[in-house]
Amino acid sequence: MWAHIPHWPQNSRPFASFVDRPSAPFRLGAGSQRGFDGFPRLKHNPPRMIPATIQEIERTIRNVPDFPKPGIQFKDITPVLADGHLFGSVIAHLLSDVKPGSVDKIVGIDARGFIFGAAAAAQIGAGFVPVRKKGKLPWATHEQSYDLEYGSNTVAIHTDAIHPGERVLLVDDLLATGGTAAAALKLVERLGGTVVGVRFVIELLFLNGRERITATDVRSLIAY
Ligand code: AMP
Repeated sequence: MWAHIPHWPQNSRPFASFVDRPSAPFRLGAGSQRGFDGFPRLKHNPPRMIPATIQEIERTIRNVPDFPKPGIQFKDITPVLADGHLFGSVIAHLLSDVKPGSVDKIVGIDARGFIFGAAAAAQIGAGFVPVRKKGKLPWATHEQSYDLEYGSNTVAIHTDAIHPGERVLLVDDLLATGGTAAAALKLVERLGGTVVGVRFVIELLFLNGRERITATDVRSLIAY
């Protein structure tokens, strides 16, 4: 039942070691805890076979005017997250052109990038690395500042989060001016990671954020 969704577990086999060494012999069929492919069955809310369309996802994003300050139209993705089918579909679309085995780490940006990035990482069996706002990570960090309209912001990454040569996919919920993503990419590069792509759920085209992003393979699902 998973077959139509790219990167669903049977493609990427993130649990291969678990399946290779089952703790007890298992039997398939009615009452089995495993599906035909040997993977644990999802008992609750299994994903449907066909991902929702980009249009269906877009229709569910809520526009909140004047949040967090006057003049900003906030793109609220919580209604998408609250629908299991739509949430799973966003992940499937984000990963649709990512070849299994081609990414070692997914880097997600504080805070909504954690939601999509971590789900995507679990799906393809990649590690997940958080880029957080300054002062939130407990271990040794590298920091990178970037300019905002008024003032500046600083993001941080653990110094041991990425090993030199690891292939990194950067994920965030939204590309606006591009300052946050550009700073996160600098941190990845400082650790010696190879950026293989950047994925956003939403892009605000009128802010030209792409101009600040040096990576070549930059894609977004929904553009306004
Ligand atoms: P920027 O650095 O300008 O590209 O801003 C991107 C970050 O700010 C992302 O992590 C978004 O979560 C957040 N953000 C910026 N503008 C919006 C918006 N209109 N709606 C929702 N989130 C936004």
